[in-house]
Amino acid sequence: MEQGIIFDIQRFCIHDGPGIRTTVFLKGCPLSCAWCHNPESKQQNVQLSYRENHCVLCGECESICPQRVHHLVNNEHLVNFSLCTGCGKCIESCPVSALSLIGKTVTTDDIMDIVLKDADYYRASGGGITLSGGEPLFQPHFALALLKQAKRGRLNTCIETSGFCREADLRSVSEFTDLFLFDFKLSDEKLHRQYVGGELSKILKNLSLLNKLKKPVILRCPVIPGINDTQSHFQAIADLSVLECVQAVEIMPYHTMGAAKSLNIGREYLLNVPPADPETVKLWKSELLKMRCQKLME
Ligand code: SF4
Ligand code: SF4
Repeated sequence: MEQGIIFDIQRFCIHDGPGIRTTVFLKGCPLSCAWCHNPESKQQNVQLSYRENHCVLCGECESICPQRVHHLVNNEHLVNFSLCTGCGKCIESCPVSALSLIGKTVTTDDIMDIVLKDADYYRASGGGITLSGGEPLFQPHFALALLKQAKRGRLNTCIETSGFCREADLRSVSEFTDLFLFDFKLSDEKLHRQYVGGELSKILKNLSLLNKLKKPVILRCPVIPGINDTQSHFQAIADLSVLECVQAVEIMPYHTMGAAKSLNIGREYLLNVPPADPETVKLWKSELLKMRCQKLME
């Protein structure tokens, strides 16, 4: 049976595809978006999280950790995240739940046991299962096995993807996927490499593959003030929206949720950009309408 690493599973989701859904978050992503709202999804293996504002400096973790990850110096708790092997000993010893491990290894059966609990809701609402991440296709065999199993259970299936994956993997999962929620973040190749950490051309090639395969796509486009809120980027969105596979275009605000989560896992959050306010999002939606984008979602 196929195994994979997930970092969350959320039931009763209503924004990750049609109807009521269970969203499974697979760990690991080949990209490094500066605005990532799930920075804990980037690394594929299990990792330590430390909430500084919960810590009472008792020193239990320092005594128990075999890797010397924790150091209490002058009333300060220093954490060397890179040394952690994920053994979990410090988590059990912490009296105030300041420590936790992100990610766990599961089988497809483990996931489907949870997903199928809500089968009645999916049937009534047209919902099902959504694979998210991270990038779900960073674990292609696990993603494919999950989708196949979901289809055997007659569930509706969606994937939330950056489109930055191997063409062969996208082709394989497409057979078992009803809808792709496909990110489109930047339309300039140079800026894309700088802020997203991968080639835009690869993503566009994969979008064109989905078009060829006639797989339904919703384009998901974040508004990131000062980075992609330009006429040329929104014109590129309007141009892509004419593809036959694109059923809808969703414009969403960038938010800064990733900043606090980055701190907890010892990563720097370098983007110093305020969240996109509702007025800005509204403005770009109306610009898209002027550009004759017919598929804008409310
Ligand atoms: S999980 Fe294990 S290795 Fe990592 S910090 Fe805690 S005790 Fe140390
Ligand atoms: S065991 Fe928990 S409360 Fe005690 S020092 Fe470590 S993180 Fe802080």
